[in-house]
Amino acid sequence: MKNIDNINALLDKYNYSVPRYTSFPPATHFTQDISQDDYADLLGGLPASKAVSLYVHIPFCHELCLYCGCNTKILNNYSPVESYIKLLLSEIALVGGATTNKLPVNLLHFGGGSPNYLKPHDLKKIINKISEFFDVSSQTQIDIESDPRYLDDKMINCFADIGVTRVSLGVQDFNHEVQTAINRIQPFSQVEKCVKNLHNHGINKINFDLIIGLPNQSIETVTQTAELAASLSPNRLAVFPYAHVPWMKKHQKLLEKYPMADGLERFLMNEAVDQVLTSNNYKAIGTDHYARNDDSLAIAQSQGRLKRNFQGYTTDISEAIIGFGHSSISSFKTAYAQNTLDPVAYRSDINDGKFPVQRGCTLSDNDQIISRLIEGLMCNFEVDLGNYKDVLGNSLNSLKTLEKDGLIVISGMHLKITDTGKPFTRIVASCFDPYFERQENQHAKAI
Ligand code: SF4
Repeated sequence: MKNIDNINALLDKYNYSVPRYTSFPPATHFTQDISQDDYADLLGGLPASKAVSLYVHIPFCHELCLYCGCNTKILNNYSPVESYIKLLLSEIALVGGATTNKLPVNLLHFGGGSPNYLKPHDLKKIINKISEFFDVSSQTQIDIESDPRYLDDKMINCFADIGVTRVSLGVQDFNHEVQTAINRIQPFSQVEKCVKNLHNHGINKINFDLIIGLPNQSIETVTQTAELAASLSPNRLAVFPYAHVPWMKKHQKLLEKYPMADGLERFLMNEAVDQVLTSNNYKAIGTDHYARNDDSLAIAQSQGRLKRNFQGYTTDISEAIIGFGHSSISSFKTAYAQNTLDPVAYRSDINDGKFPVQRGCTLSDNDQIISRLIEGLMCNFEVDLGNYKDVLGNSLNSLKTLEKDGLIVISGMHLKITDTGKPFTRIVASCFDPYFERQENQHAKAI
């Protein structure tokens, strides 16, 4: 029997706004201190022998999902996309020209928005341009996020032609009342057909994204969604907590007229989904991912090779990720650089032959160490603090309270997050973040 009083007490104390730690420092800490020369130096300094990963942002969708927190735009005609593709191709040439010739590519990820908003010939144009400047080979993994409501046979054929290895389908929830509230009607049969079509074209690595905490959800509905999702056997599932941030995404206010789960309900929904997935041969990976036991993510976790980056948990070992398109973030060993979110500034920078970078941050030696510590904690739920003595600062004091509350156990210098503490892993990570200050309305809550 669950100790609901104890869960409630933990939620009262620890369910506050905290970064997701897909990077350290988090993007909220980025400033405008990345200059054109800084970015050119970062690109030019990438060693020819080391493979990189690339991220391409496609900021367009057919319809607005009311929970959406992404950088995207709803279009009802294609001409802005054509203009964007031209700029994107110029950016790829500009950035590619600043790197050592033809760096090998580990992973090429298309995110958005909905990359399948593109017409197949435009997707091919982007890949061709990337291939002029980078070494995209049969070893390169090509992942693409897609909206199953608009993923037609032509696009799936194109995916097969260009060698797409993994497709992430936005599923979110199969319940009709939930789908109505979030403005995303997507029957199970539509997703099922999409999965079959992908398999028929030889694309067998499929991810689903689900969301917990949407309006009209209950333990019963999320359990049913998880069961339906598992019945389609995706290789991986990401089960994200809904981030209600109406101060940043005003359309989310429209969801406030519906019943929405509080901290305890979200906690219990997560447990219910976890139970369904783990009893269907999925392994829990980190804080919000699941993978089939034969999937590379599950294998990486069991071998201690799991990594975390802006896309969440990954097996990608590249030290650098170069981002293209509005709002995309590039990540280097010593710095992050984010492209402008403003389409007008993006266009004028590219037309002026400038990198469209707007903000970022340089990682000090200590930042790099803390980044490794937090990544280790988020991936493995344990860390040997003895390896990080120089950056512990006052964190040991905050950790004592967490230990008293049963979230962690510290033996000598070894910190382990307990099963009770796992849902609060981001809170544990924040104890090591010297930039973190408790503030409402900056990040989504921990649960
Ligand atoms: S499809 Fe994805 S990116 Fe597009 S509006 Fe919906 S949630 Fe946002």
